[in-house]
Amino acid sequence: MKKIVLKPSRDFTVRRRHPWIFSGALSDGPAGAESGEAVEVVDARGERLGYGSYSPASQISVRMLTYGADAQKPDEALIAGRVAAAVGRRACFFADAATNAMRLVNAEGDMLPGVVADYYAGFVVCQFTSAGAERWKTVIVETLAKFAPFCRGVSERRDVDVRAKEGLEVEPAFAVLSGDEPPEFIEISEGPCKFLVDVRNGHKTGFYLDQRDARAAVGPYANGGDVLNCFSYTGGFGLYARACGASKVTQVDSSAEALALAKRNEGLVHLCGTAMEYVEDDVFKYLRTCRDEGRMFDMIVLDPPKFAATRSKLMKASRGYKDINLLAMKLLRPHGILATFSCSGAMDTTLFDKILSEAAVDAQRDFQIVERTGQPADHPVPLSFPEGLYLKGVVLRSLS
Ligand code: SAH
Repeated sequence: MKKIVLKPSRDFTVRRRHPWIFSGALSDGPAGAESGEAVEVVDARGERLGYGSYSPASQISVRMLTYGADAQKPDEALIAGRVAAAVGRRACFFADAATNAMRLVNAEGDMLPGVVADYYAGFVVCQFTSAGAERWKTVIVETLAKFAPFCRGVSERRDVDVRAKEGLEVEPAFAVLSGDEPPEFIEISEGPCKFLVDVRNGHKTGFYLDQRDARAAVGPYANGGDVLNCFSYTGGFGLYARACGASKVTQVDSSAEALALAKRNEGLVHLCGTAMEYVEDDVFKYLRTCRDEGRMFDMIVLDPPKFAATRSKLMKASRGYKDINLLAMKLLRPHGILATFSCSGAMDTTLFDKILSEAAVDAQRDFQIVERTGQPADHPVPLSFPEGLYLKGVVLRSLS
């Protein structure tokens, strides 16, 4: 097996079982190693630190798979075992039948860097976002096809930015890798709602599974109120609010396709009594329109896309978060609820709280934190890899 030698004193993070080795830490090798090939990693004195997958085109040169002087050499059996174990750990989700859509493999969180596998009512949709993941693809797909409950087919989304950084193909955007072709829309159930998932064209693998717990936590606050759901995508938070008895729900998104699906999702569950409104607009603009028209709401949800992709974008992103949160705070009726989220990994909870408290000061309103939300159990984060924690949410109640 080819070998990578680290520079002196660059072994610290690997010894702490952090899975990423950046190109700047490499002093030598691995001559002739192919994209995704398993390599041995040694420190500057030649002591083995473990084995990982080599990514020649990426800034992250190695993603570790096994650690220590006695580490197991990665092979197909190891990878298959990890996939099966990851699926097995989700057994409780299938058992309680609260949903039939969940993440089966969460990359580093399941010791399979670069591998994401999402399950939608019988169909698994994967993303392979590192050279190593791409190289192990066949065994991963075979194992998913065997172990995922009621698996009818496994397919792949390739249109992910990071694949380009890894030097991997991004076309075709969607491909069936095993079994049946999924339908144009897969109907999933989640709590009191049903959603149609477009696994070919939808965001991520088709749905924001990572906000499942937050949707369930926030819905009940709707309680008869007038709800504004910003960045609605296919309706998630708004449809939960409707199921929890909102008097009115306004769904706002800049994507016409997302709103079209949100409307269809509304029709999948027959409830009456909630007035539904759909607005195709930029949220930054729409919040200002509401302000100018003097509209007020009992509950506002802000679930924007990632504003800060990297640390360097944090300043600009912070201004964006403050802007929408400040506007939303001013649009809340007395004792109203603001459920606000950030999925920017570069922004930690402390900074997010600081932005929110500055917005509250500028809005001249007092808020209490009623609840915090985060990634659900099917999106686990390794203790040694805090970068895996990207999603945070706060439910605030206005005290006046
Ligand atoms: N809350 C959703 C997920 C939101 S994802 C759920 O639970 O499923 C973010 C959404 O924001 C996407 O649908 C995207 O189309 C939309 N979006 C991005 N920028 C926007 C903007 N400036 N104004 C309005 N919508 C925007």
